[in-house]
Amino acid sequence: MRYFARTLCFASLGLTVMSSMVMAEAQQPPALWDLHALFATDAAWDAERQAIEALVPTLAALKGSFTDSAALEAGLDKIWATKKRLAKLDTYASLSADVDTRMDANQVRRQKANDLRNKVEETTSFVKPEIIALGRQRVEAFITERPGLAKDRYELQSILREADHTLGQEAETVLAAAQTPLEQPESIFSLLSNADIPWPTIDIHGKKITLDQEGYVTHRSDRDPKIRQTVFETFWPVFKTYERTFGAIYAANLRGTAFSAKVRKYPDAMSAVLARDNVPPQVYRTLIAEAHNGLPTLHRYLALGKKLLGLKTYRYSDVYVPFAAPPRHYTLAEAEQLTLRAVKPLGDAYGQDLNDGFQGAWMHAQPQRGKRSGAYMNGAAYDVHPFVLLSFSGNFDSVSTLAHEFGHAMHTVLANRAQPFETADYSIFVAEIPSTTNEMLLADDVIAHSHSKAEKIYALSQALELLRATFFRQAMFAEFEAETHAAIERGEPLTGESLSKIYLALLRRYMGEAEGVMTVDDIYGVEWAYIPHFYSDFYVYQYATSISAAAYFAEGLEKGDTTLRERYFDMLKAGGSDDPYLIVKKAGPDLASPEPYQALVRRMNHLLDQLETVLAENG
Ligand SMILES: [Zn+2]
Repeated sequence: MRYFARTLCFASLGLTVMSSMVMAEAQQPPALWDLHALFATDAAWDAERQAIEALVPTLAALKGSFTDSAALEAGLDKIWATKKRLAKLDTYASLSADVDTRMDANQVRRQKANDLRNKVEETTSFVKPEIIALGRQRVEAFITERPGLAKDRYELQSILREADHTLGQEAETVLAAAQTPLEQPESIFSLLSNADIPWPTIDIHGKKITLDQEGYVTHRSDRDPKIRQTVFETFWPVFKTYERTFGAIYAANLRGTAFSAKVRKYPDAMSAVLARDNVPPQVYRTLIAEAHNGLPTLHRYLALGKKLLGLKTYRYSDVYVPFAAPPRHYTLAEAEQLTLRAVKPLGDAYGQDLNDGFQGAWMHAQPQRGKRSGAYMNGAAYDVHPFVLLSFSGNFDSVSTLAHEFGHAMHTVLANRAQPFETADYSIFVAEIPSTTNEMLLADDVIAHSHSKAEKIYALSQALELLRATFFRQAMFAEFEAETHAAIERGEPLTGESLSKIYLALLRRYMGEAEGVMTVDDIYGVEWAYIPHFYSDFYVYQYATSISAAAYFAEGLEKGDTTLRERYFDMLKAGGSDDPYLIVKKAGPDLASPEPYQALVRRMNHLLDQLETVLAENG
C-alpha cells in the first residue's frame, strides 16, 4: 500500500508540529479533503465492504486452477480487481479515522477494513506456492503465450526469485506460526519506551515539563544552551537506567532476523532483507563508505554552527538548535504558490498537475484536535486520486512538508497514469526521491528569493539541516545496524553496554570529536535505545540513499538538463514495474556507485559556501 509517512523527518529534525500553531490561514476557508470522491456515504462504504466480502469464496475457488495461461490470467485478474476495490475501501476507512482518532465509529470501520484485508490475504496465500510449483520455465512460457499476462510479469518474476528461499510446506507452516513470537521484541520495546518508563519532570522557563519523548523533542532545541543541556542531561540517564533491558530486547530482535535469514538460506540478515526489493548489498556498503568520505563536510557544517551560535564548547546537546530564528510565517495559499514556483524546473505539465492537486480537495491541512500527528500521502485509491494529510502551522517546515508530500502525490499521479494497477505501486526505495527533490527545489527557490539577510540565513540553515538529519544521521543508523547484525552473526554476545560502546564510537566519529568539532559525552552512547526504526531492520538506509539521488536530480534539473528531466519522469512513471534499484539507475544515479553521494556532499558544500558569503556581507 502506498502510504509514506514523514514522521521520521519530524522526529529527526526535532520540529514540533502542534506546539507553535499559528493560525495564519484563519481568514481562508479551511483546507479539507473531500472523501466523497471515494464513497458518497458511510452506507455506500458498508455496501461495498459486503460486496467484497461476498467475493471471498470465489477467490478461494481459484486454488489449484492455474493449470494453463488463460486460467492464470483470469485468476490473477480477479485477485487484482478485488485488491483494487479493497484499497479504495481501506483508504476511506483510514483517512476518516486519522482526521478524528477519538471517534469510535471511525475505529470500527478501520478495524472492519483490516479484517477484510487479512481475510483476502489469507484466502489468496496459495498464489505464491502455486506459482513456485509451476516453475520458471512454465511461467515464462505462459507469459510469452498470453499478452494479458505482461502486466503480471514483474510480480511473477519476483515470486520466482524467492523460490530458492522458499521451504517445503511443513517448514513454511512452522515459519508462519513463528512470526508472532519473532515480532515480540518490537512490541516489548514500544511498551517499555512509550508506556512503562517513569519520566522525569523539569522546570523550563517557569513551567513544569514532563521529559518524555515528546517533551524531549520539543525542548532539546531551546535557544538557551543551559536549558537544552539540562534537557539532555535529564533525559538520557533514563535510557541509561534501562540500558540492559533495551539491550536484551534489541539483541532478541537481531537474533530473530538472523534466524529467519539462516533458515531461508540467505548468507546474512542484510542480504535477506535487501532481497525483498532485490537491492544489491553493494548499495548499502557504498552508502556507508561515501558517508565517511563526506564527514569533513558534515564537520564543516557543525563548525559553522558553533561559530554562528557563539558557543565556546559545542556539545552534542547543541545539535538541534537552529542557527537562526524563523523570520516569517506563511499562509497555506502562499505555501502552495511557493511550491508551484519552486517546481518550475520540472516543467509546465508537472506544475499543472500539481495545481490540479491543490485545487482538488486532496489535502487535509487544518490542525485540529484528535487528528493524527505528522504528515503522509496515501495513494492507494488507484482510480480516484492521492490524498495528503498534514497539519499546516505556517512555519517554514510546514511549507517544506507540503512540497514533500505533494512530491509523493505527483509520483502516484504519474505512476497511476502510466501503469496498470498491478505495477503502479512503487517501493519506498524510490518513493522518498521525488519528495525530497521537491524539498530541495523549494529550499533553493526560497534561498534565491530571500528578501532579507535573516531570511536567507534561515533558509540556508534549514536546507543544510535536512542534509545532516536525512543523510548523515540515517547513514550512521545504517552503519550501526550493519555492525550489530554482523556481530550477532559472528556469534558475539551483545549487551546494552556493548551496544552503547558501538554507538558511541560511531556518534563521535560522525560528530567529529577527534577533530575537535563537537564534544560527545559517554552517556549519549545510549541513544540507540531510543530509536524505534532499529526494529525495522535495514530500513532507514533508504532515507539516506533517496536524499542522495534527490541531490543528484535537483542539481541537474536546476541546470535545465531536459534529458535528465525526461529520465526523471520515466522513473516516476515506472511505478513498481521493475526492480527499484534498476528504475533509479536507468534515470541516472547508480546508488551502488559513489556518484549520487558525491552530489549530496557537493550540495552541502555549495550551501555552506552561500551561507559563508551571506555572513560575510555587511548589514
Ligand atoms: Zn516522504
